Amino acid sequence: MLEENEFLIGESCTELRTELYTLYCETLVYLKKLNSNIDITTVQIGEPTYCHSGKICIPVKPDDKGVLFHEMGHALLANSKFHSNYLSSNRNKNEQWGEAFAEAIRWLMEKKHFKCSKWMSDFEQDKLQVGSNKYKAAQIIEKSQRCLDGFKTLWENLVREFDKSENYLDRKLLGT
Ligand SMILES: [Zn+2]
Repeated sequence: MLEENEFLIGESCTELRTELYTLYCETLVYLKKLNSNIDITTVQIGEPTYCHSGKICIPVKPDDKGVLFHEMGHALLANSKFHSNYLSSNRNKNEQWGEAFAEAIRWLMEKKHFKCSKWMSDFEQDKLQVGSNKYKAAQIIEKSQRCLDGFKTLWENLVREFDKSENYLDRKLLGT
């Protein structure tokens, strides 16, 4: 876990930086409960990205703070059994859930910390597009009882019952 002076180096708005640092710490503690191997060791200013090495970049915007949750959320699937590093085949269907999990984690974290946001109201519209990542994220959110505790239970069940099939997450989360 980063110290505050290592976090978003160069950001001039100290107040926003401190707020994001607090959210970073809380999110990392939560993610580590789901998978203790997860760490986010670099957080820099830039276009939103997640690197498997544990580095993320985020733009620092007061009206879009939740992008931090999304990029950190990518670490969950990327470090899990559902990622192809843990399977014989490359680029399997389970791995294609990365974006949906990142969006679901963002929604659950935003609900906890912000209650509502522009991103959350846009999400409500976008999730109706069947097959989209936001649609898939909405399935995760519903199966989590729309809360972080519920998501933890869902995740633990998914990991425990994993049968190594390629369409496991599709079957479990979309019922297909
Ligand atoms: Zn993403």
